[in-house]
Amino acid sequence: METRSFTSIGREISLLGFGLMRLPLADPGKPEIDYSLGEKMIDLAWRSGVNYFDTAWPYHDGLSELFAGAVLSRYPRESYCLASKMPLWALDSAERAEEIFNRQLEKCRVDYFDFYLLHSLTEEHYKIALDFDIYNLLARKKQQGLIKRLGFSFHDNPGLLARIVSAHSWDFAQIQLNYIDWQALEAKRQYEILAQRQIPVVIMEPVRGGALATLNPQALNILQNADPGASPASWALRYAGSLPGVLTVLSGMSDLEQVKDNIATMEQFKPLSNGERDLLAQAGSAYLASGVIPCTNCRYCMDCPSGVNIPRVFAVYNHYRTIDNSFAPAIFANNYRTLGPSEQAHNCTGCDRCLEYCPQSINIPEQMRTIAALSPAPQPLEL
Ligand code: SF4
Ligand code: SF4
Repeated sequence: METRSFTSIGREISLLGFGLMRLPLADPGKPEIDYSLGEKMIDLAWRSGVNYFDTAWPYHDGLSELFAGAVLSRYPRESYCLASKMPLWALDSAERAEEIFNRQLEKCRVDYFDFYLLHSLTEEHYKIALDFDIYNLLARKKQQGLIKRLGFSFHDNPGLLARIVSAHSWDFAQIQLNYIDWQALEAKRQYEILAQRQIPVVIMEPVRGGALATLNPQALNILQNADPGASPASWALRYAGSLPGVLTVLSGMSDLEQVKDNIATMEQFKPLSNGERDLLAQAGSAYLASGVIPCTNCRYCMDCPSGVNIPRVFAVYNHYRTIDNSFAPAIFANNYRTLGPSEQAHNCTGCDRCLEYCPQSINIPEQMRTIAALSPAPQPLEL
């Protein structure tokens, strides 16, 4: 397994990190994890040299940390690094942050976190962190040995990122970076700000919530013509892993095939050549031209008070946008009807509640109106 080491991190970290936010489900549509399959996936990754596992308080509605504790505690503690995060949006006091942190240690069955992050810093969440002095609370945890390395994950503009890295000392930072968001979400500028300060970078969403693993026919053709044997996901991981200063590339794996494919990419890691980077830029343009909505299925916008299953509606729509044949409308109508009647786009009342939660700044109610207009009349699925 390809590894990266930084003096400030103090140990070798696998270039492939395992994100524990999209684990296989015991029952589709519910957060419960399929432990049997999940364990097999983690075992394979760990045996193959993956030593960075990333969970968080909200993943799988709180069940991901429990899963991490149950599965990883079977291995020697020094053999893996566990990352978790403080959910700033859930705080109403510093005492609540203490409670959550202690509960996280219990859930994960550990005495310390190897990596700990302020979760999803945005202007709003950073204000909460400042109001309750969360940085210093966590810095004290680090002095006590309960946190080995302190960082943050980030979902906002480069200006805020520059302020945050100037205001505190950080061991690492986690940003969303892939060959679409390099320009679209100003990931390039964010990466440069971290590189300038020599802050090791953990990359999230290298495959953009799975979207870059499927792509659309035009983008797919570009990649397959260049290397028929390489999966689209392998291109995306190589893009992220080739950047200097990257500590690990997180992949939220959902089945064994993804684990095997990602391990194959990172075991025989080949940095991208300049020509391959140009090719990915072409594939990215072809993908964006299909008109997809940039949803990463993070589920931060859920639950919608009107019952709309926001990420699934977008997934169905995006699938439709990437089909390039005359069956597309019929396929869309069929897939759309697999959503429960209460989950469909027409239930959106435009209350705007979800807007503040979307790290991708998607105008969700506006997109729901567009999709509702395109959708077949609401009716239950006929089986
Ligand atoms: S704007 Fe629509 S999708 Fe968003 S929370 Fe309100 S009802 Fe739900
Ligand atoms: S709409 Fe935004 S917040 Fe909701 S799942 Fe998609 S990316 Fe996440």
